[in-house]
Amino acid sequence: MTNRARPPASAARLRILVPEELRHFLPARRRRPARDPDGMPCPYDGAASLGHVVQSLGVPLTEVSRLRADGEPVPAAYRPPDGARIELSPVPRPQPLPPTAPMPPRFVLDVHLGALARRLRLLGVDTAYRNDAADPELVEQAAAERRILLTQDRGLLLRRALWLGAYVRGSRPDEQLTDVLERFAPPLAPWTRCPACNGMLVPVPKEEIAEQLPPGTRRTYDTFTRCTACGHLYWPGAHHSRLAARVAAARRVSGDGSAPRDGSGNSPGRDAR
Ligand SMILES: [Zn+2]
Repeated sequence: MTNRARPPASAARLRILVPEELRHFLPARRRRPARDPDGMPCPYDGAASLGHVVQSLGVPLTEVSRLRADGEPVPAAYRPPDGARIELSPVPRPQPLPPTAPMPPRFVLDVHLGALARRLRLLGVDTAYRNDAADPELVEQAAAERRILLTQDRGLLLRRALWLGAYVRGSRPDEQLTDVLERFAPPLAPWTRCPACNGMLVPVPKEEIAEQLPPGTRRTYDTFTRCTACGHLYWPGAHHSRLAARVAAARRVSGDGSAPRDGSGNSPGRDAR
Protein backbone atom coordinates (compact mmCIF):
# COMPACT_ATOMS: atom_id res chain seq x y z
CA MET A 1 0.00 0.00 0.00
CA THR A 2 1.59 3.27 -1.06
CA ASN A 3 0.69 6.57 0.40
CA ARG A 4 1.68 8.64 -2.59
CA ALA A 5 -0.09 11.94 -2.96
CA ARG A 6 -2.05 12.12 -6.22
CA PRO A 7 -3.69 15.07 -7.87
CA PRO A 8 -7.50 14.92 -7.82
CA ALA A 9 -8.71 12.84 -10.80
CA SER A 10 -10.88 15.67 -12.07
CA ALA A 11 -7.88 17.97 -12.49
CA ALA A 12 -5.27 15.55 -13.82
CA ARG A 13 -4.74 15.40 -17.52
CA LEU A 14 -2.14 14.65 -20.12
CA ARG A 15 -1.67 16.22 -23.50
CA ILE A 16 -1.17 13.61 -26.19
CA LEU A 17 0.19 14.21 -29.66
CA VAL A 18 -0.95 11.48 -32.03
CA PRO A 19 0.73 11.58 -35.46
CA GLU A 20 -1.30 11.36 -38.65
CA GLU A 21 -0.34 7.69 -39.22
CA LEU A 22 -2.04 6.67 -35.97
CA ARG A 23 -5.04 8.95 -35.92
CA HIS A 24 -7.40 6.47 -37.57
CA PHE A 25 -7.23 4.38 -34.38
CA LEU A 26 -8.75 7.22 -32.36
CA PRO A 27 -12.48 7.54 -31.70
CA ALA A 28 -14.14 9.39 -34.62
CA ARG A 29 -14.62 12.61 -32.68
CA ARG A 30 -10.87 12.85 -32.00
CA ARG A 31 -9.67 11.84 -35.45
CA ARG A 32 -9.51 15.30 -37.00
CA PRO A 33 -6.04 16.70 -37.48
CA ALA A 34 -4.72 18.16 -34.25
CA ARG A 35 -5.46 21.86 -34.02
CA ASP A 36 -3.61 22.18 -30.76
CA PRO A 37 0.16 21.80 -31.29
CA ASP A 38 0.44 20.72 -27.67
CA GLY A 39 -1.72 17.67 -28.30
CA MET A 40 -5.22 16.69 -27.32
CA PRO A 41 -6.15 16.79 -23.66
CA CYS A 42 -6.73 13.42 -22.07
CA PRO A 43 -7.99 12.84 -18.52
CA TYR A 44 -5.56 10.88 -16.38
CA ASP A 45 -5.99 9.19 -13.02
CA GLY A 46 -2.31 9.45 -12.14
CA ALA A 47 -2.07 5.68 -11.60
CA ALA A 48 -2.29 4.01 -15.02
CA SER A 49 0.82 3.31 -17.07
CA LEU A 50 1.35 5.36 -20.20
CA GLY A 51 0.95 2.20 -22.30
CA HIS A 52 -2.48 1.68 -20.77
CA VAL A 53 -3.49 5.28 -21.46
CA VAL A 54 -2.42 5.00 -25.11
CA GLN A 55 -4.28 1.72 -25.60
CA SER A 56 -7.42 3.14 -23.99
CA LEU A 57 -7.42 5.77 -26.72
CA GLY A 58 -7.66 2.89 -29.22
CA VAL A 59 -4.02 2.85 -30.37
CA PRO A 60 -2.45 -0.64 -29.98
CA LEU A 61 1.14 -0.47 -28.73
CA THR A 62 2.11 -2.80 -31.61
CA GLU A 63 1.69 0.26 -33.85
CA VAL A 64 3.84 2.59 -31.73
CA SER A 65 7.61 2.54 -31.96
CA ARG A 66 8.40 5.15 -29.33
CA LEU A 67 6.78 7.05 -26.49
CA ARG A 68 8.10 10.36 -25.23
CA ALA A 69 7.04 12.33 -22.20
CA ASP A 70 8.07 15.99 -22.19
CA GLY A 71 10.62 15.17 -24.87
CA GLU A 72 12.26 12.21 -23.10
CA PRO A 73 11.89 8.60 -24.32
CA VAL A 74 9.95 6.55 -21.76
CA PRO A 75 8.82 2.90 -21.54
CA ALA A 76 5.16 1.85 -21.73
CA ALA A 77 5.17 1.17 -17.97
CA TYR A 78 6.02 4.82 -17.22
CA ARG A 79 3.58 6.84 -15.12
CA PRO A 80 3.69 10.41 -16.37
CA PRO A 81 3.23 13.41 -14.10
CA ASP A 82 0.09 15.50 -14.37
CA GLY A 83 0.21 17.79 -17.38
CA ALA A 84 2.94 15.84 -19.21
CA ARG A 85 3.12 16.26 -22.97
CA ILE A 86 3.13 12.83 -24.57
CA GLU A 87 4.29 12.09 -28.12
CA LEU A 88 3.72 8.83 -30.01
CA SER A 89 5.80 7.71 -32.99
CA PRO A 90 4.41 5.19 -35.47
CA VAL A 91 6.44 2.06 -36.27
CA PRO A 92 8.89 2.78 -39.10
CA ARG A 93 8.53 1.00 -42.43
CA PRO A 94 10.11 -1.43 -42.83
CA GLN A 95 9.79 -2.22 -39.15
CA PRO A 96 12.95 -3.53 -37.45
CA LEU A 97 12.18 -6.86 -35.76
CA PRO A 98 13.46 -8.04 -32.37
CA PRO A 99 16.63 -10.20 -32.44
CA THR A 100 14.55 -13.24 -31.41
CA ALA A 101 12.45 -12.99 -34.58
CA PRO A 102 13.33 -15.57 -37.24
CA MET A 103 14.62 -14.39 -40.59
CA PRO A 104 12.85 -14.37 -42.96
CA PRO A 105 9.87 -13.32 -40.83
CA ARG A 106 6.89 -15.66 -40.60
CA PHE A 107 3.29 -14.89 -39.87
CA VAL A 108 0.07 -16.20 -38.41
CA LEU A 109 -3.19 -14.61 -39.60
CA ASP A 110 -6.50 -14.33 -37.83
CA VAL A 111 -9.63 -16.01 -39.19
CA HIS A 112 -10.78 -12.98 -41.20
CA LEU A 113 -7.66 -12.74 -43.35
CA GLY A 114 -7.92 -15.89 -45.48
CA ALA A 115 -7.53 -14.08 -48.81
CA LEU A 116 -4.41 -12.33 -47.53
CA ALA A 117 -3.02 -15.68 -46.33
CA ARG A 118 -3.34 -17.16 -49.84
CA ARG A 119 -1.62 -14.13 -51.36
CA LEU A 120 1.30 -14.30 -48.93
CA ARG A 121 1.72 -18.03 -49.56
CA LEU A 122 1.63 -17.45 -53.33
CA LEU A 123 4.65 -15.20 -52.75
CA GLY A 124 6.42 -17.90 -50.73
CA VAL A 125 5.99 -16.16 -47.37
CA ASP A 126 5.60 -18.60 -44.46
CA THR A 127 1.99 -17.98 -43.39
CA ALA A 128 0.01 -19.99 -40.87
CA TYR A 129 -3.78 -19.69 -41.21
CA ARG A 130 -6.81 -21.65 -40.09
CA ASN A 131 -10.34 -20.38 -40.55
CA ASP A 132 -11.43 -21.87 -37.22
CA ALA A 133 -8.58 -20.74 -34.96
CA ALA A 134 -9.71 -19.18 -31.67
CA ASP A 135 -8.05 -15.97 -30.49
CA PRO A 136 -6.08 -17.57 -27.61
CA GLU A 137 -4.75 -20.23 -30.01
CA LEU A 138 -3.51 -17.54 -32.40
CA VAL A 139 -1.67 -15.74 -29.62
CA GLU A 140 -0.19 -19.03 -28.41
CA GLN A 141 0.91 -20.12 -31.88
CA ALA A 142 2.49 -16.72 -32.53
CA ALA A 143 4.60 -17.04 -29.37
CA ALA A 144 5.47 -20.73 -29.78
CA GLU A 145 6.55 -20.43 -33.43
CA ARG A 146 7.78 -16.83 -33.28
CA ARG A 147 5.25 -15.74 -35.88
CA ILE A 148 4.00 -12.19 -36.24
CA LEU A 149 0.25 -12.11 -35.64
CA LEU A 150 -1.55 -10.14 -38.35
CA THR A 151 -5.08 -9.00 -37.62
CA GLN A 152 -7.62 -6.21 -37.97
CA ASP A 153 -8.97 -6.95 -34.51
CA ARG A 154 -7.49 -4.41 -32.11
CA GLY A 155 -8.68 -6.44 -29.13
CA LEU A 156 -6.38 -9.26 -30.23
CA LEU A 157 -3.41 -6.90 -30.34
CA LEU A 158 -4.06 -5.84 -26.75
CA ARG A 159 -3.63 -9.36 -25.35
CA ARG A 160 -0.82 -9.48 -22.83
CA ALA A 161 0.53 -12.84 -24.01
CA LEU A 162 1.02 -11.55 -27.56
CA TRP A 163 4.63 -11.82 -28.63
CA LEU A 164 4.56 -9.64 -31.74
CA GLY A 165 1.62 -8.45 -33.74
CA ALA A 166 0.55 -5.91 -36.31
CA TYR A 167 -2.67 -4.26 -37.36
CA VAL A 168 -3.31 -4.83 -41.07
CA ARG A 169 -4.53 -1.80 -42.98
CA GLY A 170 -6.91 -1.92 -45.92
CA SER A 171 -10.28 -3.47 -46.61
CA ARG A 172 -9.33 -5.28 -49.85
CA PRO A 173 -6.88 -8.20 -49.79
CA ASP A 174 -4.58 -6.47 -52.31
CA GLU A 175 -4.37 -3.38 -50.10
CA GLN A 176 -3.71 -5.58 -47.09
CA LEU A 177 -0.92 -7.36 -48.97
CA THR A 178 0.72 -4.05 -49.89
CA ASP A 179 0.52 -2.98 -46.25
CA VAL A 180 2.25 -6.16 -45.01
CA LEU A 181 4.95 -6.06 -47.71
CA GLU A 182 5.74 -2.41 -46.95
CA ARG A 183 5.78 -2.93 -43.22
CA PHE A 184 7.82 -6.15 -42.94
CA ALA A 185 9.55 -6.41 -46.34
CA PRO A 186 9.66 -10.22 -46.30
CA PRO A 187 11.85 -11.72 -49.05
CA LEU A 188 9.66 -13.14 -51.83
CA ALA A 189 9.93 -16.62 -53.31
CA PRO A 190 6.85 -16.88 -55.52
CA TRP A 191 5.44 -20.28 -56.52
CA THR A 192 7.31 -22.18 -53.80
CA ARG A 193 4.50 -22.63 -51.26
CA CYS A 194 1.08 -24.24 -51.35
CA PRO A 195 -1.59 -21.51 -51.18
CA ALA A 196 -3.97 -24.04 -49.62
CA CYS A 197 -1.84 -25.27 -46.70
CA ASN A 198 1.51 -23.36 -46.57
CA GLY A 199 3.49 -26.56 -47.39
CA MET A 200 6.54 -26.41 -49.68
CA LEU A 201 6.11 -27.20 -53.38
CA VAL A 202 8.54 -29.45 -55.24
CA PRO A 203 8.71 -30.18 -58.99
CA VAL A 204 7.22 -33.51 -59.95
CA PRO A 205 7.89 -35.35 -63.26
CA LYS A 206 4.85 -35.51 -65.51
CA GLU A 207 5.24 -39.28 -65.96
CA GLU A 208 4.80 -39.78 -62.25
CA ILE A 209 1.39 -38.13 -62.09
CA ALA A 210 0.10 -38.44 -65.66
CA GLU A 211 -2.61 -40.88 -64.68
CA GLN A 212 -4.02 -38.52 -62.05
CA LEU A 213 -4.48 -35.70 -64.57
CA PRO A 214 -7.61 -34.90 -66.53
CA PRO A 215 -6.93 -35.65 -70.25
CA GLY A 216 -7.03 -31.96 -71.26
CA THR A 217 -4.45 -31.04 -68.65
CA ARG A 218 -2.24 -34.00 -69.62
CA ARG A 219 -2.23 -32.82 -73.23
CA THR A 220 -1.69 -29.11 -72.47
CA TYR A 221 0.82 -28.86 -69.62
CA ASP A 222 4.29 -30.25 -68.97
CA THR A 223 5.45 -28.68 -65.71
CA PHE A 224 3.93 -29.67 -62.40
CA THR A 225 4.64 -29.15 -58.72
CA ARG A 226 3.30 -31.01 -55.72
CA CYS A 227 2.79 -29.87 -52.15
CA THR A 228 4.98 -31.89 -49.80
CA ALA A 229 2.41 -31.43 -47.02
CA CYS A 230 -1.04 -31.97 -48.57
CA GLY A 231 -0.13 -33.56 -51.90
CA HIS A 232 -2.03 -31.01 -54.00
CA LEU A 233 -0.79 -30.78 -57.61
CA TYR A 234 -0.24 -27.47 -59.36
CA TRP A 235 0.28 -26.48 -62.98
CA PRO A 236 0.09 -23.15 -64.88
CA GLY A 237 -3.64 -23.44 -65.51
CA ALA A 238 -6.48 -21.09 -66.29
CA HIS A 239 -5.80 -18.75 -63.37
CA HIS A 240 -2.12 -18.41 -64.12
CA SER A 241 -2.08 -14.98 -65.76
CA ARG A 242 -4.14 -13.45 -62.94
CA LEU A 243 -1.79 -14.89 -60.33
CA ALA A 244 1.32 -13.91 -62.31
CA ALA A 245 0.01 -10.33 -62.40
CA ARG A 246 -0.45 -10.48 -58.64
CA VAL A 247 3.14 -11.71 -58.19
CA ALA A 248 4.49 -8.96 -60.48
CA ALA A 249 2.57 -6.31 -58.52
CA ALA A 250 3.94 -7.63 -55.23
CA ARG A 251 7.50 -7.54 -56.59
CA ARG A 252 7.01 -3.89 -57.50
CA VAL A 253 5.79 -3.08 -53.97
CA SER A 254 8.64 -4.92 -52.29
CA GLY A 255 11.28 -3.59 -54.68
CA ASP A 256 12.38 -7.17 -55.24
CA GLY A 257 14.94 -7.00 -58.01
CA SER A 258 15.62 -10.72 -58.34
CA ALA A 259 15.06 -12.38 -61.70
CA PRO A 260 11.35 -12.85 -62.27
CA ARG A 261 10.18 -16.43 -62.36
CA ASP A 262 6.67 -15.52 -63.29
CA GLY A 263 6.70 -17.50 -66.50
CA SER A 264 7.74 -20.73 -64.85
CA GLY A 265 5.38 -20.76 -61.89
CA ASN A 266 2.59 -23.20 -61.51
CA SER A 267 -0.76 -21.83 -60.51
CA PRO A 268 -3.27 -23.64 -58.45
CA GLY A 269 -5.00 -25.95 -60.89
CA ARG A 270 -7.87 -28.30 -60.31
CA ASP A 271 -7.30 -30.87 -57.65
CA ALA A 272 -5.88 -33.80 -59.55
CA ARG A 273 -5.30 -36.12 -56.63
ZN1 LIG B 1 -0.54 -28.08 -49.49
